[in-house]
Amino acid sequence: MANGYWLETLGCPKNQVDSEKLAGTLTRDGLAPVDDPESADLVVVNTCAFIEAARQESVETILHLASRRKAGARLVVTGCMAERYGDELAALLPEVDLVAGFGTALDTAVDHATAVAVAMGPRRSKDAGAVAGFDLLELPRPASNTPWAYVKVAEGCDRSCGFCAIPSFRGAQRSRPVARILEEVRALAEPAHGSPVREIVLVAQDLASYGRDRSAPAATSGAQPIVELVGEVSALIERVRLLYLYPTGLTEPLIEAILATGVPYFDLSLQHVAGPLVRRMRRWGDAERYLERIEHIRALEPDATFRSSFLLGYPGEAEEDHDALLAFLEAAQLDWCGFFTFSSEEGTVAAGLDDQVPAALALERLTECSELQDAITATRRDAMVGRTYDLLVDAPGRGRTVHEAPQIDGIVHVPDDLAPGTITALEVTESLGTDLLAAGASA
Ligand code: SF4
Repeated sequence: MANGYWLETLGCPKNQVDSEKLAGTLTRDGLAPVDDPESADLVVVNTCAFIEAARQESVETILHLASRRKAGARLVVTGCMAERYGDELAALLPEVDLVAGFGTALDTAVDHATAVAVAMGPRRSKDAGAVAGFDLLELPRPASNTPWAYVKVAEGCDRSCGFCAIPSFRGAQRSRPVARILEEVRALAEPAHGSPVREIVLVAQDLASYGRDRSAPAATSGAQPIVELVGEVSALIERVRLLYLYPTGLTEPLIEAILATGVPYFDLSLQHVAGPLVRRMRRWGDAERYLERIEHIRALEPDATFRSSFLLGYPGEAEEDHDALLAFLEAAQLDWCGFFTFSSEEGTVAAGLDDQVPAALALERLTECSELQDAITATRRDAMVGRTYDLLVDAPGRGRTVHEAPQIDGIVHVPDDLAPGTITALEVTESLGTDLLAAGASA
């Protein structure tokens, strides 16, 4: 019987893509997924190291799975924590057989056995530390078990936002070739086995900068390679959605390309709106510029959906900065927002800044923003009642219009008899906070 594996994924959608690639490789090389970690011969934890809370969750998960695994099962730790604290983790967690970071060699031929070799290879000797990284971007992935799939188009980031440690351990941006991305999209849209994907969600650390590190003609001519990519992916699939757009990257051609896909969804990573504080974050923009951009897009497409994330309690955030953020949220009427409190990260600019904001105050500000935004989101959802939308059925009873990103935003309850993967026009009859009810459905 084939060896069984259990893969636990923590963190963001980008990590989920990595896990799918890892699962594809393990399956292809003869391992089979199992239903519970206790019966696995191999347990892999794909960790997140974004902030302190995420690191704690990763370590707790590793220890929990270590205690549950069966005798003789291997435990492998990969992902951002492995990358950032590889040797330290290997030394601190004797329960772990291997700590393996993700590598950087994008255009080299990838040895598909690498992941399995890492996972099932000789046990790490006590002093061996972490193993060298391996590259997941070009590995095969299994057919998707949902009618949507994330596709990661680049790894790393060339920016230096004051609070973010990602560039320090994921490295500079490395974009995948367009042909490889399109190959992956085609395989998901027309799989040899399993159900086709109808929606692709493009992800990268800084998606709008996709391709700027490549020497393709588009990159050298000054054009924005993501614009071309969005058009090409859109030609292969019904829905294309873009996550994580740095505000300066949202150029006029990119706005037009997104609107042309029929998914008018804009995920703007704003973080804050008070100009001097944004500059302290080493980022671009302020409330006025962001509002101008949002209004412009709404003039082109009144049904455009906006998501953003904001950081509360960045060093130096004064009461008037917070008031500016509240005023912006009121004025912008965004559909979806995520709020996070600042966490001081080793090796970042912010860790050395004065005027740290007390954690309790940051949390208070977060609560205030969340309460305001919850009411705005509910109002935006109410406005959809009585209108008819094309709904992509993700699972029995669950669907999404183009205005909800999978796993992040609300859902639409649809009749249970609609087959997953179908797209059906239905009237929205009720709003339930973040979720909606379509005709014939029950919540
Ligand atoms: S753009 Fe995103 S990944 Fe890059 S440094 Fe800023 S926050 Fe970090």
